[in-house]
Amino acid sequence: MSISSKDSEAVALASAIAKAGVAVPVLLAGAQGAGQNSVARELAKAYLCRSPINGVGCGECSSCLSVERSNHADLFVVEPQGDGGFIRKAALVMTKDRRKDDPFPMSEFLRVGPLVGNAKVVIVRHMERLQSDAANTLLRFLEEHPAWCRFILTTSALGHILPTIRSRCLIVACGYRPSEESTAVARLTRGAPELADQFEEERCRTFAEDFVAWADQIPRAGRPEAVRLSDELSQWCDRFHEISAPPGTPLRTTRCKVLEMLGNLVSQSLGSDERSRRLLERILEAHRAVTGNAQFESVTDLMFAESLR
Ligand SMILES: [Zn+2]
Repeated sequence: MSISSKDSEAVALASAIAKAGVAVPVLLAGAQGAGQNSVARELAKAYLCRSPINGVGCGECSSCLSVERSNHADLFVVEPQGDGGFIRKAALVMTKDRRKDDPFPMSEFLRVGPLVGNAKVVIVRHMERLQSDAANTLLRFLEEHPAWCRFILTTSALGHILPTIRSRCLIVACGYRPSEESTAVARLTRGAPELADQFEEERCRTFAEDFVAWADQIPRAGRPEAVRLSDELSQWCDRFHEISAPPGTPLRTTRCKVLEMLGNLVSQSLGSDERSRRLLERILEAHRAVTGNAQFESVTDLMFAESLR
């Protein structure tokens, strides 16, 4: 089986997310045709596969084949109706004004647990086409849903997605190719426009350049350097906190942002590179642990030690 570079990148991302056990909704964003759909499919396979290989769907079991054919009993796809259509609230929940041609609503799919495996997956395509009452309805599901439910959302217009939805999701930028022109700030904030506001001041742009130069050497570092890298990451957080955080912001918030930026950088250099994949998995795990109040230094010590094997 031959895999084009684009597909291998999709598989790498999917495996990192699934292996990190991240149950948070994943929002796949990128220009139209940037590969959101193939990443969504690979991620759905990773969640539903009967015998995943290294976090990736095997591609051969009955679950993977059903995902490929879009007829898996534990997979539900929500998408706009008709050309240039919208996603109405009726696609998500039973409403009084149901039309004859309205699809079977998502809430009914989620009423009972998985039929085949351990998870049920909902893919919502073209999130930017959600009508506003539908967006608010979906938000309620993102906030509270059964533990076996996995949401995969895709969009080609991240700016049109409600900030309340974006903040609930792990945002993954698809189809990005680093180029000579891309600035440090662009690389750090790719897929996370709300972070870009932080870099208006000169000193923050200088931080971005220094931080990117530092982060670029991580995949080549060896395990003995794990403790040094962890210490340095902590210092980068302190520095970024000092120059960018509004008064009263908890240090934890800044640390989460720095981890997010680091994950963003690493996900851009994913390819066949095993180290970067492992690092991304660990960063996702660390981000989840730090959000959940774990002690930052011990989390990042472990993150580097395990990814630089
Ligand atoms: Zn499989």
